[in-house]
Amino acid sequence: MYILAYWERCYITIAHDSELCTLLTPTLTQIDSYRTGVCRFKILYIIVVEVMNEELIAPCGMNCAICSGYLAYHHDVKSKGIRMPYCIGCRPRDKKCAFLKKRCELLISNKVRYCYECSSFPCEGLKHLDNRYRTYFKMSMIENLEYIKNIGIKPFLEKQEEKWKCPKCGEVICCHNGLCFNCSLDGLRQKKQKYRWEDK
Ligand code: SF4
Ligand code: SF4
Ligand SMILES: [Zn+2]
Repeated sequence: MYILAYWERCYITIAHDSELCTLLTPTLTQIDSYRTGVCRFKILYIIVVEVMNEELIAPCGMNCAICSGYLAYHHDVKSKGIRMPYCIGCRPRDKKCAFLKKRCELLISNKVRYCYECSSFPCEGLKHLDNRYRTYFKMSMIENLEYIKNIGIKPFLEKQEEKWKCPKCGEVICCHNGLCFNCSLDGLRQKKQKYRWEDK
């Protein structure tokens, strides 16, 4: 777990006495108030982020926290001179990941939270994806889903954290190339095949 905190540079205006004021008080510094009943605040955002997070486990069993798209976004690699596509994760972007959603009516209509709830599990599309990930990316969506179903999401997240932890800095290793986007940026910059563990 880690904490991100930053000061918003601008001020916002919110209605005095509102429930929001009470809720936000610990994170707000009141600047001034007016007879109009309106207060101005400087906001301190404190966001607690779990490295492995249930919201980042996609219905297909993919852990978006170890995906190159998510890690590129999370570490803002473009600002460090590395061109890679960004993605905020399957569930946060309403399952618009290209892998399965486009082809699956159940996922499009939110009828299942995880594919193991589906009577066709594992369907041909998922098996195909799983096979590719077993071959190239050292993980299996189907195994992930079976673990979540039989043992539970919390132990699964703990196991994922352990499996993908960078031995040098403790951040996350990417399943698509085996690199840490925190401490191996030079390696990532020089890597010819950004979506393979080994360069040919
Ligand atoms: S590209 Fe797909 S697997 Fe990667 S973070 Fe986005 S939704 Fe998740
Ligand atoms: S058919 Fe079932 S197993 Fe296949 S992608 Fe859709 S929900 Fe998942
Ligand atoms: Zn690292």
